[in-house]
Amino acid sequence: MILDGRSVAQKVLGEVKAGVERLRGETGVAPMLAVVLVGDFAPSKIYVANKMKASDAVGIATRDHVHPAGLTQAELLALLGSLNADPAVHGILLQLPLPKGLDEDEAIAAIAPQKDVDGLHPTNLGRLLAGAPTVVPCTPAGCLEILDHYGAKLEGQEAVVVGRSRLVGKPLAQLLLARHATVTMCHTRTRDLAEHTRRADVLCVAAGRPRVITGDMVKEGAWVIDVGINRLETGRLVGDVDFDAASARAQAITPVPGGVGPMTVAMLLRNTLRAAQRQLLGGGLRPPAAASSPEARGRRPRANA
Ligand code: NAP
Repeated sequence: MILDGRSVAQKVLGEVKAGVERLRGETGVAPMLAVVLVGDFAPSKIYVANKMKASDAVGIATRDHVHPAGLTQAELLALLGSLNADPAVHGILLQLPLPKGLDEDEAIAAIAPQKDVDGLHPTNLGRLLAGAPTVVPCTPAGCLEILDHYGAKLEGQEAVVVGRSRLVGKPLAQLLLARHATVTMCHTRTRDLAEHTRRADVLCVAAGRPRVITGDMVKEGAWVIDVGINRLETGRLVGDVDFDAASARAQAITPVPGGVGPMTVAMLLRNTLRAAQRQLLGGGLRPPAAASSPEARGRRPRANA
C-alpha cells in the first residue's frame, strides 16, 4: 500500500479551512501567521512561498518579514519580541536554518510558546516529553497523521526511528512512545543499523541520506515512513529509503515526493489554527489525546527522589 501524503494533507487542509471559517464566524478574526525569513537561502525562499500560498488557500492571513540582507541577532530578537507582543499575530514561523552567525536556539527560545507553531520552543518540546503536548512539531505530527489515517497499529509494535534531530527524530520517537509502541532510536553511532531496522514493525527514517535503508533492511510486512528529502545530482528527489526494494517487502510505505512532505505544511496550518483558537477563545490547552502519555491521562508519576 502506498501511503499517499498528498491526499491525507488535503483532508487535513479541508478540516483547517472549516475551522478557520468557524473561528471567523465566532470572533470575526482570521488566524494570522507571521513568517520570518532571514538571509538569502534559495530553498528557504521556496518553502516560505509554499507555506504562505497554502495559508492563503485555507483562509489563514500571513504577514511576511523577509530580510534577505540578514539581521543581527539583536535585531532578530527584537523582531520576534514585537511579534510576541502583537495581539493580531497568532503564530510565528521562523524559517530555519538561520544564516551563519545567528544563534538558532536563542531565537527559537525567544518566540512566545503559545505562538510557536513549529513546536520547537523548549517549553513545547518539554510538554511533549512530559506527555502533555500543546504544539507538536509539524513533520513528526504529519507522520503520525499518515499512520493513523491508514489504520496502522502502533500499540505494542516495534517502532524504529532512524535519526535523532530535534526537528524530526526525537519528537517522532516521543509520539510513538505515547502510543505504546516499543521505540528504538538509531543514529550515526548505532553499531548495526540493519539489525535494528529488520526488527521494525514501524520503521521511520529521517537521516537525510539517500537510500541509507536498503530493501534487505526492511522487515516483511513493515510500515515504512520515509521522511528524507534528498536531491540527487541528476536533479531527482529521493527519500532515505530505497523505495523500489523496500516496497517489495513492506506492507505500506510513503513515497518521496508525495509522502511526508505535503503533511508538514498541513500540520503547520493546523498548529496555527489551534494557536489562534487558544488565543481568541481561551482555554483549550488540552493535548491531542493521541499524543498524551499515561502520566498525562492520570497515572501518578513517581517521586523524583
Ligand atoms: P538532521 O538534523 O541532519 O538529522 C539527521 C539524523 O540522522 C541525525 O540524528 C543523524 O545522526 C542521523 N543519521 C544520519 N546518517 C545516518 C546513518 N547513516 N545512519 C543512522 N543515522 C544517521 O536532519 P533532519 O532535519 O532530522 O532531517 C532528516 C531528513 O528529513 C532530511 O532529508 C530532511 O530534508 C528531511 N526532512 C523532511 C521534512 C518533510 O517535510 N518531509 C521535514 C524535515 C526534514 P547523528 O545525530 O548521530 O548525527
